[in-house]
Amino acid sequence: MPNNIIDGKRIAQMIKDEVREETRMLRETHGVVPGLAFLLVGDDPASRTYVASKERACDYCGIHSVTLRLPAETHEAEVHDKISAWNNDPEIHGILVQLPLPEHIDTDRIIEAISPVKDVDGFHPVNVGKLMIGQQGMLPCTPAGIQQMLIRSGIATEGKHVVVIGRSNIVGKPIANILLQKAAGANAVVTVAHSAAADISVFTRQADILIVATGRVNTVTADMVREGVVVIDVGINRIADNTRERGYRIVGDVDFDAVAEKASLITPVPGGVGVMTIAMLMKNTLTAARHAVMPG
Ligand code: NAP
Repeated sequence: MPNNIIDGKRIAQMIKDEVREETRMLRETHGVVPGLAFLLVGDDPASRTYVASKERACDYCGIHSVTLRLPAETHEAEVHDKISAWNNDPEIHGILVQLPLPEHIDTDRIIEAISPVKDVDGFHPVNVGKLMIGQQGMLPCTPAGIQQMLIRSGIATEGKHVVVIGRSNIVGKPIANILLQKAAGANAVVTVAHSAAADISVFTRQADILIVATGRVNTVTADMVREGVVVIDVGINRIADNTRERGYRIVGDVDFDAVAEKASLITPVPGGVGVMTIAMLMKNTLTAARHAVMPG
């Protein structure tokens, strides 16, 4: 590994340790244990693995978790009933519906059924709207994790040109909005590019901080960045690799080895943004529990 790495594992561990300590204090001073409910519909192996890692993080942080596993053919009405019960359960402070849901279930309607104050994924339109206008709400975990990586690595964003490649609702749009706010840890000049751009290198070459979230291997190569750029690679892609027992390895969206030679700092994949997401979920759950105890 080059020595200009932003170590996501170390930062995520730091955040989980902080959450663990603050959870202990909340329990001791207010008798409240943060509670997080997971809903898993169907048996998608990747979703099962994600929920298992989130459950382990809850255990570590002292967060009480419950997981409801429903069969793929579950009616949407049943999912709504469960969410409604959790919305009204004072021991549950956060609700996470693991996506993707089976096709017959309307994902938007399910997300909108979650109380915005328990929406620890930050996907509810109320939280999306609050982010847009700079009000305090629940931030989505992956972009919130990116902002924490920048802050905790001492990377100033104020007045810097941040270029985001990708405009998804879970990464591209929210990270652009977070860093655009006139606020500490933000206040950047933000450009967002996407697949309709004739040539994204026009934008990537101008970036002080480049955030890539396309889900395409080698979206950004060394000739597309300038010396000294900070690179945040959000991508998680599987590529065949016969030297590995499982037959594949995980890479990001950036041609890591070559870009790392020009970058001042760069996130690796794995061990970069990916590990931050669960740490921020823990932080959001703690925040939701705190608000339940001390509203306002
Ligand atoms: P997505 O919903 O598929 O969005 C991809 C975005 O990239 C779209 O806006 C698309 O443009 C744009 N795009 C695709 N190819 C492009 C190209 N060649 N040039 C410019 N723009 C291009 O993906 P996502 O959910 O944002 O995820 C992106 C990557 O991040 C994936 O690898 C995913 O696995 C990973 N991810 C990681 C985490 C984590 O670390 N925890 C969380 C979420 C996602 P259009 O809008 O025009 O189609």
